[in-house]
Amino acid sequence: AEKTNYFVIDDDLAESIFKPRNDFAHKGNYGKALVVGGSYGKIGAVVLATKSALKTGAGLTFTLAPQCGYEILQTSCSEAMFAKGGELWVDHFDIDKDMTVGIGPGLGTHEDTRKGLLSFLKNYTKSMVLDADALNIISENEENLDFIPKKSIITPHPKEFERMFGKTEDSFKRLKLAVEKARELAIYIVLKDHHTQIITPNGKVFYNITGNAGLAKGGSGDVLTGILTSLLAQGYSGEESCILGVWLHGKAADFAAEKYSKESMLPTNVIDELGSVFGELN
Ligand code: AMP
Ligand code: MG
Repeated sequence: AEKTNYFVIDDDLAESIFKPRNDFAHKGNYGKALVVGGSYGKIGAVVLATKSALKTGAGLTFTLAPQCGYEILQTSCSEAMFAKGGELWVDHFDIDKDMTVGIGPGLGTHEDTRKGLLSFLKNYTKSMVLDADALNIISENEENLDFIPKKSIITPHPKEFERMFGKTEDSFKRLKLAVEKARELAIYIVLKDHHTQIITPNGKVFYNITGNAGLAKGGSGDVLTGILTSLLAQGYSGEESCILGVWLHGKAADFAAEKYSKESMLPTNVIDELGSVFGELN
């Protein structure tokens, strides 16, 4: 078997990946991030992901969400641009090639969404971030796994991982399976947990040690999706985006816990603390 290499993400590794903003930059230099998701009653998820993409530094941030989220998004994310993808749920995925896409937060699994997502994946080959209901839809049929564009980043929590790839006895066997699948599908797997593991297509495993149990709340994963989409849009490689993104998310959560406690901190506070983390990196 090919070799697996294990690493721990320390602050030095994250700092070595981070690229400070160029003084002469304009918005065109930092990519176009497009967050796709939301459905009636779950617009908050796409708000969190959009805000996170903005606060991670993408040059332009767009949201493709259903019409029922229009006012909510336009008022809560002033800097983002809204594209209508349906009435109450996303039912089409007309997406330009110059976008860097993150799909899944609050997406739901409506029949129209399922059909739309799968036909989009069959025709779009650029690497993207896939999370939440996008992964649940893909999980419905094993053949769908092959439609995930190469070098994409998937961010399953343990339950979503199990739906995608099957049950494993323990977390060690789960990691082994993840290494196999990342290689086979040529994708990055961000296996979200207390110590999130990033598995690369070439068999490297990175353990993250930032973050805390204050993240054990609805919405935390949506924040990570926005961060990863934004980094990928800005030109960080898949591996760099995963390492820096997961570290940033956890570090911002640690700052939020210090300020508000693990009990009371909210994903919104994690987004706000991204500024302090970037402040330390700069
Ligand atoms: P999701 O389940 O999609 O909302 O994702 C939850 C996010 O919070 C992931 O990034 C997890 O790694 C993180 N998280 C959840 N619980 C914990 C925990 N007890 N310790 C550290 N991180 C956590
Ligand atoms: Mg989630």
